[in-house]
Amino acid sequence: MFFLTIGSSLPALAMQPYPDCSACKKPTGYFNLKKALLKDAILPIAVIGSGPAGLSAAIYGARSNVKTVILEGDKPGGLLTETTEVENWPGIPSAMGPEIMEQVKKQAEQFGTVFLADSVEKVDFSQWPFVLKTEEGRTLYALTVIVATGANPKTLGITGEQEYWGKGVSTCAVCDARFYKDEEVIVIGGGDSAAEEAMQLAPYAKSVTLMVRKNKMRAAGRMQDLIKNVKNITIKYNVEVKEVKGDGKHVTAVKVLNNLTNKTSDMPIKGVFFAIGHIPNSSLVSGSIKTDASGYIQLEGRSQKTSMPGVFAAGDVEDHVYRQAGVASGSGIKASLDAFNFLMEIGYNAAFEKKLQEQGKLFFPKKKLTEKIVQSLDSVKAFEQAITQDKPVVIDFWAEYCPSCVQMIPLFEDVAVEFSDTMHFYKVDIGQKAFGPIMKKYKIEAIPLILIFKDGKVNARQAKAMNRTELREFLQTK
Ligand code: NDP
Repeated sequence: MFFLTIGSSLPALAMQPYPDCSACKKPTGYFNLKKALLKDAILPIAVIGSGPAGLSAAIYGARSNVKTVILEGDKPGGLLTETTEVENWPGIPSAMGPEIMEQVKKQAEQFGTVFLADSVEKVDFSQWPFVLKTEEGRTLYALTVIVATGANPKTLGITGEQEYWGKGVSTCAVCDARFYKDEEVIVIGGGDSAAEEAMQLAPYAKSVTLMVRKNKMRAAGRMQDLIKNVKNITIKYNVEVKEVKGDGKHVTAVKVLNNLTNKTSDMPIKGVFFAIGHIPNSSLVSGSIKTDASGYIQLEGRSQKTSMPGVFAAGDVEDHVYRQAGVASGSGIKASLDAFNFLMEIGYNAAFEKKLQEQGKLFFPKKKLTEKIVQSLDSVKAFEQAITQDKPVVIDFWAEYCPSCVQMIPLFEDVAVEFSDTMHFYKVDIGQKAFGPIMKKYKIEAIPLILIFKDGKVNARQAKAMNRTELREFLQTK
């Protein structure tokens, strides 16, 4: 039996079984839907991750009328929200990365996707329905899972890198470029990301030097043309950064090896930006499904099926070749179609979903308390008053142009509710010019930044994007 689908709509749920039976690898009856009726909090399609792959998977899942839940993770919108202008997303000649992701999210919402501001911390694929344990303490049961957890920026692991993180070392030029006004900075890497970071830094820095380890760049020709036309960008080839040096407070130089002459020298600079590629975020599932030596999830043939029937993967977590938002989106669509077909293979249909719903087995998020604990400070005077209070004062410095800052605000607001008896919480938008003196006084050189004040003095600082657990741990120790 075969099916012909004309047009872009998915066939209705009542369709006949998919001919390729991947579930056959498990003992007969393993994927018996009766098991789903014994659990609470069932997710027919659970998408882990909300970048282009996850959101595209959700559009197709929800549009086929299968209840689809996205667990957004710590970086809602994924890596595209960290880029600036995007001109290769088909259909949109030019737009900012975060705007594109906002549109894709709206599209997924319009078909009924449920968005959960939570991260999966543990999976158990050895039982079915699959078990997902989350950072917010939820236990969810998924009939199918689409892993779309993306990739994170790589760093070199060299001496000084951690010590000077947020004090001159960064992976986000769009967030931190303005702290390097008239300073000399380097970008390590020779790919599109490195070229993009250099372009973001050039309007602020005195000079930007791209440190490329080979004798040529890997970035697309157009990107290379763009940077070559910017006066304060220089490219150094055959160089490797071996150490980050500083004066204890801030980066002052890097130790550089010329791999042609084998000679090392110190290069005085104030900022080091890493743009050396990404590592797949597969640690959540690497013990449960097949991954390759670099950690990328392995797929079956041209499908998005992983080694575990019912679990699919899409986007940068499985793609070490193309790594483009458009490709990630396409793979998310494929994963969703594969998940849909899997559900049909095991007999899932609209009637069964209705039964789950009637028996209260389908997962619906509870409405959250929307108490407003975090207040905005919008003047230096308000700031000075706020930091001298009886209880410790926690301030989140952020800016709209900084994607990781924007992503952290909802987490900060959630966690603030838990600590509101013992601490005061504020946020400061450093995009407002008025805060210039505050930035100088408190040496604000990277965002997102959390400062904790006690008796008007800085008691603790953390200059990095944190997830809920890290934020809780940071606050608990203070
Ligand atoms: P890439 O893997 O393309 O490039 C990584 C760069 O870092 C390479 O030049 C590589 O050098 C260098 N590198 C890797 N490891 C080290 C190291 N240990 N020391 C020094 N240099 C190192 O990663 P990108 O993040 O640049 O891009 C990822 C994907 O995203 C690509 O497909 C890219 O096209 C895409 N992208 C597209 C953009 C756009 O279209 N606007 C913007 C940004 C990314 P070597 O060449 O020697 O291996």
